[in-house]
Amino acid sequence: MTQKKIGPVTVETVQGDITRQPDLDAIVNAANAALRTGGGVAGAIHRAAGPGLEQECLPLGPIKPGEAVMSGGHHLPNAHVIHCLGPVYGHDKPEDELLASCYRQALLLADRDGITAIGFPAISTGIFGYPIADAAEVSLKAVADVAPSLAAVKTVRFVLFSENDKAVFDHALTSI
Ligand code: ADP
Repeated sequence: MTQKKIGPVTVETVQGDITRQPDLDAIVNAANAALRTGGGVAGAIHRAAGPGLEQECLPLGPIKPGEAVMSGGHHLPNAHVIHCLGPVYGHDKPEDELLASCYRQALLLADRDGITAIGFPAISTGIFGYPIADAAEVSLKAVADVAPSLAAVKTVRFVLFSENDKAVFDHALTSI
């Protein structure tokens, strides 16, 4: 695990599966607009949470790129899931602002709910095609920008699926 303190928040990177982070109050889903189950990280989260998650989510959708909504965690080890719709790279523009908005909105929602520890996947870097190095820079900068205004959130963990993605995030974290 790599850690860096940014204002009142400790930003961490780990390689792993976001559905297996029992010490976090909330995990973030790289959702689709309708908040249905799907492939990638959304599929993994919905499988681990059980069908109650989709039932709770459907009335909360559809959401637009850059938006975030919160649900319960159902059978996940986390009390909450925050669902963000990242930009489709090359289609939803400006993609850097929309990606940053996901992180900002998710953190502000979490903070309002008194959440102290939250985990993010690398939103938009799978099926949505955002290049990982660009996404790492935008995502970490968005967290650093909002960190000083957070009262409750103390830990922000990036849970990266591959060794390469973790290395890219670690590199970006050193230059924040
Ligand atoms: P998007 O549609 O926003 O691109 P994806 O789910 O396709 O979302 O991918 C987002 C990122 O999540 C990718 O980097 C992918 O490798 C990663 N990922 C997939 N499954 C998991 C998981 N179980 N835990 C953490 N990250 C995951």
